[in-house]
Formats: sequence, C-alpha cells, structure tokens
Amino acid sequence: MSQPHILLLGPPGAGKGTQSKRIADRFDVEHVTTGDALRANKDMDISDLDLEHDTPREYMEAGELVPDAVVNEIVKTALENADGYVLDGYPRNLDQAEYLDSITELDVVASLDVSTEELVDRLTGRRVCDDCGANYHVEFAPPEADGVCDDCGGELVQREDDTEETVRERLRVFEENTQPVIDFYEGEEAFVTIDGEQTPDEVWADLEAAIEKRV
Ligand code: ADP
Ligand code: ADP
Ligand code: ZN
Repeated sequence: MSQPHILLLGPPGAGKGTQSKRIADRFDVEHVTTGDALRANKDMDISDLDLEHDTPREYMEAGELVPDAVVNEIVKTALENADGYVLDGYPRNLDQAEYLDSITELDVVASLDVSTEELVDRLTGRRVCDDCGANYHVEFAPPEADGVCDDCGGELVQREDDTEETVRERLRVFEENTQPVIDFYEGEEAFVTIDGEQTPDEVWADLEAAIEKRV
C-alpha cells in the first residue's frame, strides 16, 4: 500500500503543527505546511501575477491570505514530491479545497476543534525554534531552558504575526473562509472531528486512533 494522505484542518493555534510532527513520525509521511513554505519564501517575487502586493510578506504580516495562485503552486509541487503526506495550513478557502480535490485523494481529513479564547492564549504564547521549527508555549509547553530549543539548542522566537491584534484578524479570516472548507468535507467517510482543547497527548491519542481506522 502507498503511504497515507492525511489532511489536518483547524483554526490558527488549534495544534496542527504540534500534531503534524507526531503524525509524520508515526505514519512515516512528509509534513507539508504552507505556512512554513511561505515563511521561507516571504520575499519571493510574485509581481508577474499582477496582484495587490509583489511578495507574500505584505499579506502575511497583515494576517490576510496569500493569493491562491501562489499557494496552489506550492502545494502541487510539494505533493508531487511526497509519497505519503500530512498537509497542514491548506486548504483555507473553498477554491483551494476544490483545487486540492483535483490533484490528489485524501484518506483522512481530521478537523481540530478549539474555542476562540483558547486560541488567542495559545497563539500569543507560542514560541518557535528558529532552526528546526519546533513549537513551544511559554505556559502550556515550555522548553527545559528559557528561550532554547529542547531538540536542537536553537533560539526560540515569537512569530511576527503572533501578536494579539494580528491573531484576532487571522481568526476572523479563518471564520470567514475556512468554515466552508469544513462543510466541503463533512459527511465524507474520511472526515473526523477531534476535540482539540484536550492536552496534546489526549489529542494525539484520539487522532492516532482516527487515522488508524481509516488507513
Ligand atoms: P497551529 O499549527 O494549528 O497554528 P500549533 O501546533 O503551532 O498550532 O500550536 C499553537 C500553540 O499552542 C503552540 O504554542 C503550542 O505549543 C500550543 N499547543 C498546541 N497544542 C496544545 C494543546 N493541546 N494544549 C495547549 N497548548 C497547545
Ligand atoms: P497558523 O495556522 O498558525 O495561522 P500558518 O503558519 O499556517 O499559521 O500561516 C501563516 C500565514 O501564512 C497566514 O496568515 C497566511 O498569510 C499565509 N498562509 C498559510 N497558508 C495559506 C493558505 N493555504 N492560503 C493562503 N495563505 C496562507
Ligand atoms: Zn530546534
């Protein structure tokens, strides 16, 4: 059998990055995340697409979505180069969901459910390793030594868009665009909702069981 195709849905701060890492290890699949791919290419020249801005940076710093033409291309290339994958941060609107449907098939679509107030606390307290991308939280998942990555010793930093103002805008953008994505998958056999407000280990237990049932 080929490796599983897993999609992780959920608002910013739901725990997609945290859980995707575990999925990638446990099921031996590649972690494909549009957020990391875009952060690594923030100043990529997209002026030939004749959009409002000439690089992804302006969209990201405002908490807005980067245009579909840019993101679809990134995902297409990444999925072509992966055997199995866990995809996170995409699709974020209905057009992206329809595009994804035209290029691949999904075995599992897991949606992490978390309340808005909890999301604000998680995102404003999030710290990420500048070297390996590992996720921490100042209160909920602190590193052993302040500001230092447990995995690689790298420096922990706060993302530019994890300030309260941008966080609230990202959550609004999610509400507006991504609910139709969840409606798109709801009812499919691959679809499952997971209570994302539990501890990371409890979320993982539910998620692992849901994936095992479907692959
Ligand atoms: P996403 O990729 O969905 O934006 P992350 O995995 O980066 O979310 O998690 C956001 C923040 O919340 C991080 O600081 C992470 O350490 C923390 N976190 C993740 N899962 C949980 C959880 N189940 N309970 C409490 N905090 C969590
Ligand atoms: P989080 O899940 O914590 O919100 P991400 O790292 O997934 O954050 O995304 C950060 C930013 O990258 C988004 O606010 C948006 O500007 C851009 N981005 C990521 N994925 C997409 C996507 N599928 N479509 C459009 N923009 C995206
Ligand atoms: Zn690290």
